[in-house]
Amino acid sequence: MSSTPETKPSASHADNKKVPVSTGMPEHISLDKWADTGYEWSGEVKPSSFDRLATTLSTEHEQSDIQLNANLYRRNNVLHLAFTLTGDVWLTCQRCLQPIAIDLSDDYDIALLENDSQVRLVKDEQDYLLLDEIVTEQSPERLLPFKKLVEDEILLKTPMAPKHDDCEMSVEQFGEIPEEEEGENPFAALASLKGKL
Ligand SMILES: [Zn+2]
Repeated sequence: MSSTPETKPSASHADNKKVPVSTGMPEHISLDKWADTGYEWSGEVKPSSFDRLATTLSTEHEQSDIQLNANLYRRNNVLHLAFTLTGDVWLTCQRCLQPIAIDLSDDYDIALLENDSQVRLVKDEQDYLLLDEIVTEQSPERLLPFKKLVEDEILLKTPMAPKHDDCEMSVEQFGEIPEEEEGENPFAALASLKGKL
């Protein structure tokens, strides 16, 4: 939808681990620049700035910015992307068609493996992805698709058929509309990517 220009850290901050908040959420993180030193980004992100998420957002309720604190770091010589989201998005209740708030607030951590042999370096319950499968080769830099990875996690956190817990609208008013299965998620394929070798 939107074609936001690539955000490039300015030269004056090249040797500073903290990147200024004002630049907006970067689409990519350069692994050549940051994989060794680590990288942090904090700021507010508009839900509508995520193209795939935007298609599911309610237009009947104002969306608030989501607070994002992200940290690229190494543990056991394995690169990790960790981030904390704080905030809600408003989707549409599939029973009464009124807006419903979905809380995205959580801590996320994805190990980014150089190859299969690094699997043994992370805990069993650790989410991981293979860098080869996600890094976009845009010469001369290896770029981690930061924004896409964050959006993937948001989509996994977001139910396909959100419903108010205490929704009072009777389903019968909609006649034969079949109930969606709880937990079904069009982005389940994303989940299957994780841990796939
Ligand atoms: Zn409802």
